[in-house]
Amino acid sequence: MIPYGRHSIDDSDIEAVIEALKSDWLTTGPLVEKFERSLENFVGAPTISVTSGTAALHCAYSAIGVKPGDEIITPPITFIATQATAAVMGAKIVFADVQEDTANINPGAVEALITNRTKAVVAVDYAGHPADLDELRMITNKYGIYLIEDAAHSIGSSYKNRPVGSIADLTTFSFFPTKNFTTAEGGAISSPNPELLERARKFSRQGLIREPENLLLPGEGPWHQEVHEFGLNYRLPDVLCALGISQLNRLASFKQRRREIFDFYSNAFSKIDFIRTPIEKEFVDSNWHLYPVRVPQSHRSDIYKLLRSQGIGVQVNYLPAHLHPVFASKGLKRGDFPVAESFYASELSLPISFVLTEDDLNRVVETFESIVL
Ligand SMILES: *Cc1c(COP(=O)(O)O)cnc(C)c1O
Repeated sequence: MIPYGRHSIDDSDIEAVIEALKSDWLTTGPLVEKFERSLENFVGAPTISVTSGTAALHCAYSAIGVKPGDEIITPPITFIATQATAAVMGAKIVFADVQEDTANINPGAVEALITNRTKAVVAVDYAGHPADLDELRMITNKYGIYLIEDAAHSIGSSYKNRPVGSIADLTTFSFFPTKNFTTAEGGAISSPNPELLERARKFSRQGLIREPENLLLPGEGPWHQEVHEFGLNYRLPDVLCALGISQLNRLASFKQRRREIFDFYSNAFSKIDFIRTPIEKEFVDSNWHLYPVRVPQSHRSDIYKLLRSQGIGVQVNYLPAHLHPVFASKGLKRGDFPVAESFYASELSLPISFVLTEDDLNRVVETFESIVL
């Protein structure tokens, strides 16, 4: 089966992990900071590492102080972690429909949803294509609320020549194996705002405070550390940071290969009538995580099954989040977000990753060419 997404681990990655295993540290050691510095250089804002993209979202919501009853505006076309991490904190999830072309949150749908309980707008850079961040920023500034960017798909992308990670109040990343690079499980949070990032950091490290000037119990002794607000353990271990540093060194080559595959497919499919290929706005440079095509809704399921039977690992990304049964009790239902639902009904994600060969790519295209609708 040609995988729809797959990691690439080479000898340099393996060496880096072996070195870390032989060192004095397995978890919080010098490689955590080294990885975070490398990430900061890459995304253009201070960054902390955590154990997953889900943890990163949880830390971001904690950093902005999400409380029960706060409202968070999100797009339906995303992985459910975007919503789940706010919902478990008691937030009310509000949906704004997506743009018809990119499947990113539609800024035109956001403003009407803002109330005095709205805490943040969350943009998801679907497939790696950055959302309309300037338009969203205008709205969040106008109402004094936060802009969070779920960049699980888009590390390495840029928006108007600014790297993803340097733009929103908080940006979250995932390093799950199918994403743009991997630490097995892992994630990160970046922010140009030092206070917000420090709050996220503290939450990810048990809420522990050690700096003498911040202690409320300063007389305890040199061993002392204390908690003012609860946190959890979302620390990414040294061993995985070693993999992250090594993978980040390879990210430019990953991006280039993803771009080649994007161009190859887009060119080949321009000759096939029933396939609609993804667009890229002129002011973004995407690190393509997915290659999402649209096919006629009435044939999507058959095409999916045919491709799978031919060993081509297609996927569907995503069931619109409001249709997960967990939201049914909140009154959400089919028909509520027609653009997202129509996108979902015709979408197929084709294989795209560093490890695909020319033969793999030709097989995908030839299989589509053989389809008669
Ligand atoms: C993968 C993903 C996440 C969650 O990341 P994990 O590292 O798997 O926890 C969150 N949001 C989006 C859009 C994702 O694709």
